[in-house]
Amino acid sequence: KSGFVSIVGRPNVGKSTLLNHIVGQKIAIMSNKPQTTRNKITAVYTTEQGQVIFLDTPGIHKPKSKLGDYMVAVAENTLNEVDLVLFVIDATEKRGPGDDYIIERLKQVKTPVFLVINKIDKVHPEELLPIIDEYRKLYEFKQIIPISALEGNNTGPLIQAIFDEM
Ligand code: GDP
Ligand code: MG
Repeated sequence: KSGFVSIVGRPNVGKSTLLNHIVGQKIAIMSNKPQTTRNKITAVYTTEQGQVIFLDTPGIHKPKSKLGDYMVAVAENTLNEVDLVLFVIDATEKRGPGDDYIIERLKQVKTPVFLVINKIDKVHPEELLPIIDEYRKLYEFKQIIPISALEGNNTGPLIQAIFDEM
């Protein structure tokens, strides 16, 4: 099995942390400042099950500049080219215009999307249900998977679900 997976989400939700956790090496730049990831950075995860090629996509957002326009175009093209999209959200942050904008973009592509609810190490389990309810009303996610990219909670099942989708 092999395929391409794009990781999208607002700045600071933990996209680079997830990518680094999966491939086990620092290949994406991590920072609290938005948009330190300026290019499509590809990471290859290989096991006996096959190969997954990850794209750490720059944040999809309403363009504010020419550079912003270009970055959004790169990100949106990526969504059409991949086999699966991981839409990462931060369990500790309220849904915002940035999330809604991404959901609108996701509705325009046919690629299956997993909702990855990250940073569950910082919330109580019962706080997850309202988040799941809120998001599943907005988009028909193929799967909804809560994780902690930092601590590695539930990342094994996420990786398995990714392979199952390939
Ligand atoms: P990106 O902008 O989406 O790529 O986000 P980063 O991967 O750069 O992470 C932004 C910040 O959130 C960093 O300080 C990370 O250490 C932190 N972070 C990422 N994942 C988790 C997590 O699962 N739990 C906690 N507590 N912090 C996280
Ligand atoms: Mg990043």
